[in-house]
Order: sequence, then structure tokens, then C-alpha cells
Amino acid sequence: MGSDESYNFVFKVVLIGESGVGKSNLLSRFTKNEFNHESRTTIGVEFSTRTVQLENYTIKAQIWDTAGLEYYRGAVGALLVYDISKHLTYESADRWLKELLDHADPHIVVMLVGNKRDLDNLRTVPSEEAKDFAEKRGLMYMETSALDSTNVEHAFNEVLTAIHKKVA
Ligand code: GDP
Ligand code: MG
Repeated sequence: MGSDESYNFVFKVVLIGESGVGKSNLLSRFTKNEFNHESRTTIGVEFSTRTVQLENYTIKAQIWDTAGLEYYRGAVGALLVYDISKHLTYESADRWLKELLDHADPHIVVMLVGNKRDLDNLRTVPSEEAKDFAEKRGLMYMETSALDSTNVEHAFNEVLTAIHKKVA
């Protein structure tokens, strides 16, 4: 049996947030170590998987990158993504969170993710502000860059570890 086929858990994680914040690239960076400079609209249902070894267990992460019917069903984790250089994408986080909590399992693990951290010179969302927002709502929080890979593994692994703590 190939190592990719043996795992202890399958966790479904959804990517949500405004268009253009980097959801598809976070997914391709994590599952294929690929980055795309062109923005491409996600059409239909797309998900990719990656199997990760965490401590003494193996998790198959099934990560969904689209919006639509049935999207939230069965999701145990979510990355709520905004762009640190576009304040409007951060301002809409509350709406995305509400939509998520209206449709997903109330125990879902949610991480607020400030992507495009490489664009620090264009930053319009201070880290402290986002961190406070996340704390108030009980969300995990991290800044990432799908472009230069900063914290991408870290963000997904933290979410998967937190999910495992809840279900184990
Ligand atoms: P989505 O609509 O949320 O799926 O966003 P995409 O993944 O399609 O990315 C939108 C645009 O932002 C594309 O041009 C990407 O190349 C770019 N992008 C994504 N992530 C990053 C990042 O971390 N840093 C920078 N500088 N650009 C990024
Ligand atoms: Mg996309």
C-alpha cells in the first residue's frame, strides 16, 4: 500500500473569502507546491488532497476551493482568507464568517488568514487589528504568502492539528 493511501483520518477543509485574495494559490501551493501569477476564476467544484504526517498520525486533507451548493457539508475546518493589501477583503471577513457558521458544523475549526504577506510595503490591514478580530471571534490567525510559501504549510498543519485535537 502506498503511503498516500494509508491514513488515520480524512478531514475536509474549505477555503473562503473574497475573489482575488489567493485561495486557489494557497491550495496549489500546499497540495502541489505550485504558484500561478495569473488570476483564474474557479469554476465548478474543485478540490485537491494532500496526505500529511502529524505527530503519530496521518491525515488526508481534502481541501475545497469553490463556492456553491453543498460546499460546507462535512467540512471540519475552514481558512477564511483576506488580502493584507486590500482592506475591503478584510472588512468582509465578518460576512464570510456568518455565512460559514450558518451553513457549517458549529464546531468547525476556523483560521483567519492574511495572505500576500510578501506585499508588506502595500499593507493596509495591520496584523494587530486582524489578530484582535480573530481573538474576539475565537478564530486562529496567521499571515501567509502563497507567492513565497511563507506559513502556507504552517497554516494548514495548524488547522489540521486543531481539528485532530477536537475529534480524537
Ligand atoms: P482567489 O480568487 O482567492 O482564488 O485568488 P487567486 O489564487 O486566483 O489569486 C489572485 C491573484 O493574486 C493572482 O494573480 C495570484 O497570482 C495573486 N496571489 C495569490 N497569492 C499571492 C501572494 O501570496 N502574494 C502575491 N503577491 N500575490 C498572490
Ligand atoms: Mg480561486
